[in-house]
Amino acid sequence: MARKTLTVGWLYPDLMNIYGDRGNILTLLKRAEWRDFDARLIELGRGTTEGIDDVDVFFFGGGQDREQALVYEDLLETKQTALERAVASGASVLAVCGGYQLLGQYYQTGEGERFPGIGLIDVRTEAGKQRFIGDVVVDTDLPDIQPQTLVGFENHSGRTYLGPKAKPLGRVRMGFGNNGEDHTEGCIQGGILGTYLHGSLLPKNPHLADHLVTSALARRGITELAPLDDAAEIAAHEKILARAQRR
Ligand code: GLN
Repeated sequence: MARKTLTVGWLYPDLMNIYGDRGNILTLLKRAEWRDFDARLIELGRGTTEGIDDVDVFFFGGGQDREQALVYEDLLETKQTALERAVASGASVLAVCGGYQLLGQYYQTGEGERFPGIGLIDVRTEAGKQRFIGDVVVDTDLPDIQPQTLVGFENHSGRTYLGPKAKPLGRVRMGFGNNGEDHTEGCIQGGILGTYLHGSLLPKNPHLADHLVTSALARRGITELAPLDDAAEIAAHEKILARAQRR
């Protein structure tokens, strides 16, 4: 039987990759290899879409305003059409913080500079004066994952507000989340998942990694992933939950 493949597309790895976001790529690739998949990485920096149609799961990491200013034009001019096509064909997207913001309508910096996004998700973001920094615990609304919590670390000035087409990824139990006002964190829209959770996110939330992969592979008839021993990952997850409860 032909070996199964999983292709991960990493958007702007040289510029949009802060607070350990690279750990998300390692988690997606390793968990596929542990399940005997051929795990492939395609780096999608500025100026290229080579291999983008083969991607099952896209990752778009965080970046400071400076890095976002360096990538938003390429996102609009080079990546947008191919990304829309990939998502329409069932690929999954995980976008964290700066990447999350640029998949929306726009990101406006604290100085009032507005970077147009590609509008893949119905969100808009405007930076506030106070940076939101610290551990985050989220009770998620995702139906098919256990545990129903997500943990991570946030560091952003952007306040993100969801429009009617986007649903929250969950509710903050601890931390600021999307905007520090409506108690939501992240967003889900079709196969796209946006979040403020750095940390990196997936090593401490293996259930979310599997959700992204399962969603993407459904189009190829792969609906079940072999179970893995996630004892260490879940122990790390529960340590942050316990720390939150002591606050
Ligand atoms: N520059 C954006 C903000 O401050 C994104 C930061 C990030 O990716 N951590 O909100």
